[in-house]
Amino acid sequence: MGMRATSLISRAGMMLADLILPRTCAACGASIDLSDKDLCETCARQLAAGAGGSYCRTCGEDRGEHLLHDGRCTRCVLGKSLRRFHGFARVGKYDGVLKSLILRFKTSFVLDRLLGDLLASAILGMMDVRAVDCWVPIPSHWTRRVSTLYQPTDLLARAAVRAWGGRVEPVLKMSGIVRPFHMQPGLSAKERAEQIRGKMQMRRAADVQGLHICLIDDVMTTGATIGEASRVLRDAGAAAISVAVLARAGGNEPVHPGVDPAGKAA
Ligand SMILES: [Zn+2]
Ligand SMILES: [Zn+2]
Repeated sequence: MGMRATSLISRAGMMLADLILPRTCAACGASIDLSDKDLCETCARQLAAGAGGSYCRTCGEDRGEHLLHDGRCTRCVLGKSLRRFHGFARVGKYDGVLKSLILRFKTSFVLDRLLGDLLASAILGMMDVRAVDCWVPIPSHWTRRVSTLYQPTDLLARAAVRAWGGRVEPVLKMSGIVRPFHMQPGLSAKERAEQIRGKMQMRRAADVQGLHICLIDDVMTTGATIGEASRVLRDAGAAAISVAVLARAGGNEPVHPGVDPAGKAA
């Protein structure tokens, strides 16, 4: 009798879990057994294999370990990188499983815990989190009220810093409409920079004077958006800017596998 009651309760629990828990892999949609996992085994393995890798700790460009000098690429050491930050952390490249997860995250507010955990471990591996005063999500390009209700980067930032109790301050806002860059494929780095310039501003009463800020975004491609955010924060008196993103895509500087462009005569 006792055992039977227990099994009925656990069956009821399973059925309830069936209704409320996602039972498919968050990246590929394959069905998975009841568990607390978000990914199927194949996707989890692929994600783990694609995460990490070696990259410059101030601009985020992918570089082989042997091409980094104290963690920085030659361009950064020589002061030639267009976008160089106090610190840089990223989970992986913008492809495969990570890309699928980010695309889903842009439209629905699940996955913040999973992606937040991934970002947290990338940050902890690259930065001294105690040196960062506050964590600032990059605002969504859309300014229409209906879409500002969902700010994935804000959720992402909050999920990531939970690990060390960091402070998230959404001090930036868009002051004009910019069509999201992922919906305008083929834009050059220069065109992106021109579109975003002057379209971001500090929220009223936000004070970043003398602070070390770490910007949080999902994907950094040419760095136009992050560059603009960084400019606005510096103008407002921020002392240092670091960047943490889920993925670093492409890049605006030539990258040849195994060849450091800065190592060649320009
Ligand atoms: Zn999967
Ligand atoms: Zn660099």
